Amino acid sequence: MKPSSPTRPVDAPGTSVGSAPDAAPRGPSEPAPGAAAFGKALDEATRLIGASRRVLVLTGAGISTDSGIPDFRGPQGVWTKDPEAEKLSTLQHYLVEPDVRRRAWQARLASPTWQAQPNAGHRALVELQRQGRLQLLVTQNIDGLHQQAGNDPTLVVEIHGTAHEVVCLTCGHRQPTERVLDRVRAGDSDPSCEEPVGPGGRACEGILKSATISFGQSLVAADLARADAAARSCDLLLAVGTTLSVHPVAGLVPTTHLAGARIVIVNGEPTEHDVLADAVVRGSISEVLPAVVGANPAGAA
Ligand SMILES: [Zn+2]
Repeated sequence: MKPSSPTRPVDAPGTSVGSAPDAAPRGPSEPAPGAAAFGKALDEATRLIGASRRVLVLTGAGISTDSGIPDFRGPQGVWTKDPEAEKLSTLQHYLVEPDVRRRAWQARLASPTWQAQPNAGHRALVELQRQGRLQLLVTQNIDGLHQQAGNDPTLVVEIHGTAHEVVCLTCGHRQPTERVLDRVRAGDSDPSCEEPVGPGGRACEGILKSATISFGQSLVAADLARADAAARSCDLLLAVGTTLSVHPVAGLVPTTHLAGARIVIVNGEPTEHDVLADAVVRGSISEVLPAVVGANPAGAA
């Protein structure tokens, strides 16, 4: 995704809060921290979350891989293994190539999203909400698993859209994806919009696409504004399962940092913003997240 970003995509040198200003970023070739360091990071993350009252959570593909949904950019990623698949998510190709649309509908039919269930990582973020600490949950995921797990939909911003709805690119009508997949199963390989338009009530026949943000599409301005406002007003940012390399979500971390809030990162791999974090816990998200959230008492005052 390469939309324009309202937040600065750069780190903020010399304004470190809560950590040594001169701390060097950990290089990719250095060994993973040992068990003692892991335990210390886990304790610190737990303490920081326990002391927080307004948490902005950012989630990426890493939180859903344990639910059987592959990461698109990781080593086992769909695009990494099949660069042609990226065309299915690029608007220019989708608009003008019927064959791209037919392949995209077949890929949607076969998507693991429809069978996926939330995992312990998703449930830990429901617990964070139950504790009264969740200010906003901004996700790059399109799988709907946060809401399925029980997070309040009004506290979830799906910054890259949702796979569970289909939108008409002509009239803007939205409908559940399942309804359109039924037409694909019945033999309509490139279904078009059936909404009546005009005085005669003829079908719109616009191109249908999942309500996700494709390459070449802008993000929703209102969603960006909510995320940015939360980054400036939260007291802790918890980034989970994202390498923080895709903007504008990645830019929320330096924004939060400049605003003086604490930053906790939980991810399987190093991220672009580890150097800005007060605690970095590297490990299995579905194991680490319940530990750092669940250890705290409910009811942040
Ligand atoms: Zn339409």
